[in-house]
Amino acid sequence: MKNKNLLALYKKYVAHNYGRLPLSIARADGAWVWDTDGKKYMDFVQGLAANILGHSPKNVARAINAQAGKLVHASNLFYTIPQGELAAELVKISFPSKALFINSGAEAVESAIKLARKYHSDNGSARYEIIAMDNSFHGRTYGALSATGQKKYHKGFAPLVPGFKHIPFADISKLKKAVTKKTAAVIIEPVQGEGGVHAAPFEYLRDARKLCDKNGILLIFDEVQCGMGRTGKWFAHMHAGVRPDIMTLAKGLGGGFPIGAMLARPGVMDSFGPGTHASTFGGGPLACAAALEVIKTVRQKKLLQNTAQTGRETIRRLREMQSEFKIIKEVRGMGLMIGIELNRPGMGVVNRCIEKGFIINCVQDNVLRMFPPLNVTKAQMNRGLKILKEALWQEIS
Ligand code: PLP
Repeated sequence: MKNKNLLALYKKYVAHNYGRLPLSIARADGAWVWDTDGKKYMDFVQGLAANILGHSPKNVARAINAQAGKLVHASNLFYTIPQGELAAELVKISFPSKALFINSGAEAVESAIKLARKYHSDNGSARYEIIAMDNSFHGRTYGALSATGQKKYHKGFAPLVPGFKHIPFADISKLKKAVTKKTAAVIIEPVQGEGGVHAAPFEYLRDARKLCDKNGILLIFDEVQCGMGRTGKWFAHMHAGVRPDIMTLAKGLGGGFPIGAMLARPGVMDSFGPGTHASTFGGGPLACAAALEVIKTVRQKKLLQNTAQTGRETIRRLREMQSEFKIIKEVRGMGLMIGIELNRPGMGVVNRCIEKGFIINCVQDNVLRMFPPLNVTKAQMNRGLKILKEALWQEIS
């Protein structure tokens, strides 16, 4: 089907809730995608950071196929092997915890919020309030939306869920002041993604941990975007040497296959007894088989190392470009989660990159964002930076 015919189908039959780029993707392989008219692009959006092994990784596809030949769906009325094995793997690479599986990042956040309130209720405390950060993004369902600290996402959806308080990101004195006897949990993205790629200073995460411990408050790290190796360690909070009580995951976990997970230390997860929380498809055999293969591949191919090294080098090169391009205000990032803040709207540069066969996107109107796959090669990164430079030149000339 030609691009223009597909766009017409969408116009007539698909909800218009996305501001899509005018590009229809027909097939993809690794760092590359082909549109419906056969044009090839290098993709550093990668399904909004989900495809950590690149597009359609063959071993993940094989694992899904093999699992589909045995069992596609059984529900959580039963035990299934991939779910048990995936939980064990996730605990092995994170912190002493138990896992609950759902289908998306927003659902992971919903589960975390519910668990935090249930935990305090079980402990006979009246704590229910969740402290969240300005500029944060946690998803579009009501609980996750209420935690999200960006007003533009709230518009038209009032009333939101009560009991959420927003404070400036990475400001420990503001966090201290916000804590009351009603505080149940603090939710932090160790690296804010949709907010424009802002990493919390490690000291802040450590201080937040101490504050929560002192006051009996649960610390939730939302690692839906920055987790699963994206920053060069399995989870971004590991750079700071702290552990959360609850962590949310999705995106990269399935390498492109939809899956979400919420991990909580055992004493906390115990508050989710039978019947308290559930999902028909959560932890389904196909999703868990995909995630198991993703974890195995990241380990075997030493992709954490590649992410850390390539990320460091790329951020260094981008910072060097700042002297050539005054429109670059700041280059931020950790590992292969990279933001380039411009002093003007970024869509002009994004569109020029796409015209030249390089897909990136823009958040917060002026932050160019790149999510290369964790197995990105030097040659691919060179190609991306070369095209970006050309697009920046055109933007200023
Ligand atoms: N949390 C964070 C940090 C995210 O970046 C996102 C999505 O961008 C979500 C939650 C919501 O995830 P999903 O779109 O899978 O519901």
